[in-house]
Amino acid sequence: MEEIEIAIIGAGVVGLAIGAELAQAGKEVYIFERNDTFGQETSSRNSEVIHAGIYYPSDSLKAKTCVEGNVLLYTICEKYGIPYKKRGKLIVAVSQDETDALEKLFERGKENSARNLKLIGKSELKKLEPYVNGIGAIYSPTSGVIDSHSLMRYFAGVVRSNKGWIVYRTNVVKIEKKSDGYKVMIIEDNKEHSSFRARIVINCAGLQSDKIAELVGIDIEKAEYNLKFCKGNYFSVGNGKNSLLSHLVYPVPKADGTALGIHSTLDIHGRFRLGPDDYYINMDYAGQETHTYPVLDLDYTVDESKKEIFYNSAKKFLPFLELDDLEPEMSGIRPKLQGPNERYRDFVIRDEEEKGFSGFINLIGIESPGLTASPSIAKYVNELIKN
Ligand SMILES: Cc1cc2nc3c(=O)[nH]c(=O)nc-3n(C[C@H](O)[C@H](O)[C@H](O)COP(=O)(O)OP(=O)(O)OC[C@H]3O[C@@H](n4cnc5c(N)ncnc54)[C@H](O)[C@@H]3O)c2cc1C
Repeated sequence: MEEIEIAIIGAGVVGLAIGAELAQAGKEVYIFERNDTFGQETSSRNSEVIHAGIYYPSDSLKAKTCVEGNVLLYTICEKYGIPYKKRGKLIVAVSQDETDALEKLFERGKENSARNLKLIGKSELKKLEPYVNGIGAIYSPTSGVIDSHSLMRYFAGVVRSNKGWIVYRTNVVKIEKKSDGYKVMIIEDNKEHSSFRARIVINCAGLQSDKIAELVGIDIEKAEYNLKFCKGNYFSVGNGKNSLLSHLVYPVPKADGTALGIHSTLDIHGRFRLGPDDYYINMDYAGQETHTYPVLDLDYTVDESKKEIFYNSAKKFLPFLELDDLEPEMSGIRPKLQGPNERYRDFVIRDEEEKGFSGFINLIGIESPGLTASPSIAKYVNELIKN
């Protein structure tokens, strides 16, 4: 049986960033991805925003990796010519209640060391965005947008130009703990079964990372690793309305920190879109056996009936919008650890030594800001391996 040093499951932005970091550090890395190429799931279905790290509880991994990831991403973009735009972001309050919440959010952002935040009043807001409605805002000049596909291509290139391989159309279906690592069973091209031994396994399987943890023998109910899926739709905004904005404009988020609220982004090409909303969807694996790798049927259809909800929600701070400007665009699904009305959950990034699985590193619940945080998460995982 073939023996390898490190197996990474999943070639989304997180698996690729970790692969690049480890390969650059001289490690032998294999990334296994069931799709035809990298980034076909959550990593290409998001807002592509480089967040500053304002929202997350202080001392959380989300806050730390986002703040560090923000700096690292801009450095990578500059150095390797990855398209980005540091547009700056405004979180806009439209009522007195929201101003109080905005001030609290500002304090949290400062505690998290999100860079160069400023609380601004109505007149300064008007100068920055003349067509936006609001009585105050948090201004975050270091927020921006990135071409996430180019970023993933860069990470994949770093993997391949070192001691790293990315193996596509390969589904990891079974994992067994052995005395000196893990036996990993794969199905290639939907037909060839084979297996190899890996000293370290890193689980970056996104929406199915809980199921990968279960495969190795972790009780995911007890560990509270079972994921809930939270869908987000986007609507594009046409009729030349992109010329009326230059920043990313967000509402004041929900108090429980579970979602940022339907916001407006301008991607690197200046395309204007609204979204994502957030609602849990049922995606149970009914009828499928446990301890075998289940099949997930993802429904990315945009629910057009939500058009008016998007319009009414964004109109509060973008008064120039007309219902006819909106067209259904795309959707993404968040792998969330917390279900509706449950306590806030941080990223899980850990070596499962305490559970008897030393050298098995789980990354579970890597929802937003996972794209921004990816280079920082990669450094964190490298440290786990060194230790
Ligand atoms: C609507 C939405 C908006 C978002 N907006 C932002 C944003 O603006 N900024 C930001 O920083 N973050 C954002 N995020 C979060 C960000 O997109 C994710 O955190 C990030 O893409 C997660 O990457 P990943 O590599 O962990 O997962 P994925 O991209 O899902 O990759 C996991 C990979 O594992 C593979 N896989 C799974 N099981 C197996 C198996 N058994 N064998 C082989 N391969 C397997 C899958 O095929 C997949 O390619 C958003 C997310 C959503 C859903």
